[in-house]
Amino acid sequence: MAGFDVRGLYVHEVSLMQDTVIIAVKQAREAGAQRIHRVMMRVGALSGAVPETLEFAFEIVAKGTMAEGAVLEIEKVPVLCYCSACAEEFEPADLVCECTRCARPSVEIRRGRELQLTSLEVS
Ligand SMILES: [Zn+2]
Repeated sequence: MAGFDVRGLYVHEVSLMQDTVIIAVKQAREAGAQRIHRVMMRVGALSGAVPETLEFAFEIVAKGTMAEGAVLEIEKVPVLCYCSACAEEFEPADLVCECTRCARPSVEIRRGRELQLTSLEVS
């Protein structure tokens, strides 16, 4: 058995993946499927979830469900901010949304907070 970190962050990912697996199983059942083979998600850089930890958490929570053994595919979504002064979207250098052109801090985050199930492969 692999060792793991039990900090709050880890608990956060487990509860996120529990919700995701519940939704995935519900959708697969509605589609008349018996098994889930692949789960695709979009995870924003600001979502507060670490993709590697999500994968690990997924394995644990999927056990005993129709998603057991499924591949979790995570599409990482970078942060995208909008600067009203430049009227441009930009990818900040770090997690602080500071315009890469005029250096003004931006309060408008257009992308990077998502944590969503995007599609499933079932049979
Ligand atoms: Zn700007």
